[in-house]
Amino acid sequence: MLPTLTTLQQRKPHLYSPDWLCPQCNSAPEDLNHLWTCPYILPDLNPCLTYRSEIIKFRDSCLSSFLSLKPLDITFQAGFFALDCWNYESPSPSCLWLTRVLLPAHLTAFLNQHFPLSIIYKFISPLLNDFQIELYGEIWLCRNVLFHAWEESQGISAASKLRGPSANSSSIATSSQKHNSSLATVSQDSWISWISSSIIRGG
Ligand SMILES: [Zn+2]
Repeated sequence: MLPTLTTLQQRKPHLYSPDWLCPQCNSAPEDLNHLWTCPYILPDLNPCLTYRSEIIKFRDSCLSSFLSLKPLDITFQAGFFALDCWNYESPSPSCLWLTRVLLPAHLTAFLNQHFPLSIIYKFISPLLNDFQIELYGEIWLCRNVLFHAWEESQGISAASKLRGPSANSSSIATSSQKHNSSLATVSQDSWISWISSSIIRGG
């Protein structure tokens, strides 16, 4: 499982205060689903829109893959597009399952009306894998750069992560006070230059 803030809060509550929300938008806990629905927007990072466009790309490659096997009429396409797992607007729970490499049963059942299961898995698996790689590169890696910089701003260093809870007993108060300066309240220009300089420093 990806070490989202929610996971870190459970593993190391002495370092990551349970009250902290997503450092990017400060509007919701940063759990696995939030990674793909975070509304925070930067010129190079827009998790929510990136997620939607990756879902569309995945959906369309699935459709063209299956249409290349067998010519199917417009009813098939309409039914395929209407499946709950492509509802990226809300997004639906089954749409979010795809990010965890879980194929919704209604998707395979729908395709199974026209194709055997072995063919369905054979064609969908590599596409789902590509979808995962895109999410990892376009959202998770960018989030990690931002998250690392945010941790530093909270005084959470690599060394403090190695130390046990007792050594950090005094750092929680300091960290909580600092948290008032969430990334969302920092003006974009200064924040971006701060991120760039910390990347250059290798931080
Ligand atoms: Zn967020």
